[in-house]
Amino acid sequence: MEEGVGGEEYLFKIVVIGDSAVGKSNLLSRFARDEFDLHSKATIGVEFQTQVVDIDGKEVKAQVWDTAGQERFRAVTSAYYRGAVGALIVYDISRRTTFESIKRWLDELNTHCDTTTARMLVGNKSDLENIRDVSVEEGKRLAEEEGMFFIETSALDSTNVKEAFQIVIRAIYNNSRRKVL
Ligand code: GDP
Ligand code: MG
Repeated sequence: MEEGVGGEEYLFKIVVIGDSAVGKSNLLSRFARDEFDLHSKATIGVEFQTQVVDIDGKEVKAQVWDTAGQERFRAVTSAYYRGAVGALIVYDISRRTTFESIKRWLDELNTHCDTTTARMLVGNKSDLENIRDVSVEEGKRLAEEEGMFFIETSALDSTNVKEAFQIVIRAIYNNSRRKVL
């Protein structure tokens, strides 16, 4: 989703996907409002937040969508993915099953979005080092195999959250510029 390509205005739709309780909603609220919720509930219904990011002095609007609980029922709709040019695919580094689900999320993304969609594999909850269940190397390897960026984050202590979004937004921005030129 781009507005005024060639002009000065950019609006990019980014989806956040991954198993229930990996921290998707908290990553989004940390990014958009710098808030963290210790007891966040999986509310049902699609929600998004719009955040303005500065990329090389250009105002870029990121419209970041949250599954808002749909994923618990394996019922993320095609409308959710429509027009997405970026995706954060999130697992919880302290729960291996959420890492094992990444392939399924990638398959789903690939049925709705083409390969130009910028992808970031996100290992969230890096603050839980003492109960780590997925190594950094495993995350890196999977990301490399599947052509994704990779980062570990903590929505709890804010580590790398802005960076995760910014890297994806910059990649989308560079892609869209290439298309224009
Ligand atoms: P979602 O279902 O993927 O949207 O996950 P939520 O954002 O609702 O988070 C699920 C649970 O994990 C909540 O209890 C959060 O407080 C917790 N959580 C989210 N991010 C982190 C994190 O980075 N570190 C830790 N320790 N807990 C987190
Ligand atoms: Mg949620």
